[in-house]
Amino acid sequence: MLGPPGAGKGTQSQRIEAARGLKQLSTGDMLRAEVASGSDLGISLKKTMDAGQLVTDSVIVAMISSRIDQPDCANGFILDGFPRTVAQAEALDTMLEERKMRMDHVIQIVVDQEAMVQRISGRITCEQCGTGYHDTFDPPKTAGECDKCGPTNLIRRSDDNPDTVRARLKAYDEQTAPLLPYYQDRGVLQDVNGMASADQVATEIAGLLDAA
Ligand code: ADP
Ligand code: ADP
Ligand code: ZN
Repeated sequence: MLGPPGAGKGTQSQRIEAARGLKQLSTGDMLRAEVASGSDLGISLKKTMDAGQLVTDSVIVAMISSRIDQPDCANGFILDGFPRTVAQAEALDTMLEERKMRMDHVIQIVVDQEAMVQRISGRITCEQCGTGYHDTFDPPKTAGECDKCGPTNLIRRSDDNPDTVRARLKAYDEQTAPLLPYYQDRGVLQDVNGMASADQVATEIAGLLDAA
């Protein structure tokens, strides 16, 4: 899943996981788990993430490479937030080749970046199950409760503030957007309109997944 911060990669990946039994692998979630563990690595990751900068390729590649060998990935997986640099995309190609796996789809969620600050500023996540919501665009059915878990903490990420979001959008333009031609040149990039409602985006992605 490609697209700038706030495009809806996590939202759509969660839906695909629920509908098709493919495992969502979010590098952001994995990094936040490392931060929460309080490890030395976590402390240094938090600094980078709160500055809106990308974490070193080698850390990310090692993380994904061991994660995709876990049994829950055997039926396939969705990469959410990875690759984010050309070097990561090259590492992914090697990783898949070594395992005789293939990438079925590369989906770009196309959005108007101006709208992303508002989207990300309203993002909240269930502390228990990780389901994502938005203060105004996709609020939980009952305020302060997760639709799945009931009363819970709906948390806001420390990097989801307007200043950091701008830094993240800049990192996207400079380091991640060069991935688009990388996949375009091979004719595998598929675009969906991420400015539509989350339901409409899900329908458009389902059409792509069912077509091939
Ligand atoms: P990403 O993983 O690409 O950073 P998210 O899936 O976390 O993006 O979405 C960012 C925020 O925008 C979340 O609060 C989510 O509920 C909301 N959102 C996701 N898709 C849409 C959409 N199509 N329209 C409006 N809001 C959306
Ligand atoms: P969003 O989808 O809103 O951009 P993520 O949860 O995917 O946020 O990522 C949060 C932060 O984690 C990023 O700003 C970056 O610091 C780090 N990160 C996540 N994935 C990667 C990656 N593949 N390469 C480098 N840094 C990453
Ligand atoms: Zn929940």
